Amino acid sequence: MKKAKTPVPHPNAVPHGSVHMLRLCEGLAYAPAPETTPVKIDATYGLFIDGAFTKPGRTFATVNPATEKTLAEVTAATASDVDRAVKAARRAQEKVWGRLPGRERGKYLYRIARLIQEHARELAVLETMDGGKTIKESRDIDLPLVAAHFFYYAGWADKLDYAFPGRKARPLGVAGQVIPWNFPLLMAAWKLAPALAAGNTCVLKPAETTPLTALHLARIFQQAELPPGVVNIVTGAGETGAALVNHPGIDKVAFTGSTEVGRRIAASVAGTGKKLTLELGGKAANIVFEDAPIEQAVEGIVAGIYFNQGHVCCAGSRLLVQESVFPEIIRRLRDRVSTLRVGDPLDKNTDIGAINSRQQLEKIRELVDSGVKEGAELFQPRCRLPKAGYWFAPSFFTGVTAAHRIAREEIFGPVLSVMTFRTPEEAIERANTTPYGLSAGVWTDKGSKIFKIAAKLRAGVVWANTYNKFDPTSPFGGYKESGFGREGGVQGLLPYVSLE
Ligand code: NAP
Ligand code: MG
Repeated sequence: MKKAKTPVPHPNAVPHGSVHMLRLCEGLAYAPAPETTPVKIDATYGLFIDGAFTKPGRTFATVNPATEKTLAEVTAATASDVDRAVKAARRAQEKVWGRLPGRERGKYLYRIARLIQEHARELAVLETMDGGKTIKESRDIDLPLVAAHFFYYAGWADKLDYAFPGRKARPLGVAGQVIPWNFPLLMAAWKLAPALAAGNTCVLKPAETTPLTALHLARIFQQAELPPGVVNIVTGAGETGAALVNHPGIDKVAFTGSTEVGRRIAASVAGTGKKLTLELGGKAANIVFEDAPIEQAVEGIVAGIYFNQGHVCCAGSRLLVQESVFPEIIRRLRDRVSTLRVGDPLDKNTDIGAINSRQQLEKIRELVDSGVKEGAELFQPRCRLPKAGYWFAPSFFTGVTAAHRIAREEIFGPVLSVMTFRTPEEAIERANTTPYGLSAGVWTDKGSKIFKIAAKLRAGVVWANTYNKFDPTSPFGGYKESGFGREGGVQGLLPYVSLE
């Protein structure tokens, strides 16, 4: 009988039982892997009205939050610019777009979707430069979803009779749409695609800090030969947004942003006959039961809060952990958070990019300081953050009580508040103790528990054993102070039609 050879260990083999963990935040670095796709950024941009770019007017700078350098000057649309855009949209709706058969509208939307795919690389780079999100996310999540939304609603354009059986769906007219800076192009797609599919025309206002991808999308509309006036893009700050939502010539307001501004818009729109949808903030509970697949749950916790630097309205920002697994979860979370790479958003290995603006960074710092002052315990891996730009290390708090500000207020940054519970009833009660109701997560091995808990959570979206998964076929939206109305799916057409 041959004697078994003792295997010779490979020189790079990790010995059994040792923890092979690169503590990247502490210095061991990968070689840089920057995205190189060139993207041509103009020095100055005008507004996109009636199918053409206007001459730039009074401008403001949009910066790269990872470098603090100005990328471009962008026009601040005045009330009279907004008026011209609304009038162009009205003409286009009445004379062209509203008269086109759904099948023809669908063809334009398919063309736009394909052009977005063709330009996906440069749009992803631009999104990352203007907003600070990692290229990994803008390339693999935002852009594919942007194209998917146009494809999906292109499919509905000639099937509205099937979307609303037995009813006749008519477009509302002109939609005024205001979007935030966390998913600039994706929010534009969520707003534009269903509106256009249903036969409406649009005036869209992107956020002040991230206007560039919407302006480049306008070029795609030109390439697709979308009739002039069907989509108009008016850049500017809050005043431009207010001029748009208060314009008497629009039939529908769609807003995504903070609860505070949403409330103001609801008050100003009340009694005008304009149809309104509001997608506002959130403070979602991500609930981990003791029978959950723990490693998978830790990945889900990380994806839930650190995705897009935590600039996510549906972020799993309140982690509720069953007491018996709390020590294990915290130990694993500490290890996992310490491996996250913070830095250049254009580097393909980066997990956490730049905070979108100085103002947002200050808001995060203020809330984190309040957590420390109120007695919660902060964990932050040791991170060397770049000198220029706006950065915040991935962090989490333990020892959080329901009364702490960090448990109640939306931080909108890479900061998690961890709390514990003993029974499922307690988990449900804690999860629902919030003025918001946008999303939630449940982690358990038991299917029956998932259904039981999900049915009792007052949240528009509940993810089970996963988190932050999006699809154009699936409706998204909130309860309570998270707003009303749904985007995505067949439900996402409803806010853009009147039914006869
Ligand atoms: P924000 O201040 O409410 O801004 C959202 C948009 O509204 C921006 O385009 C903004 O312009 C504009 N705006 C500001 N004041 C306005 C007014 N009086 N009338 C009309 N428009 C006005 O919110 P943000 O700070 O940009 O975004 C973060 C918030 O949005 C978070 O609270 C987050 O939860 C929420 N959010 C919700 C969802 C959702 O789907 N539910 C998605 C993303 C974000 P400026 O850019 O010039 O401020
Ligand atoms: Mg910017």
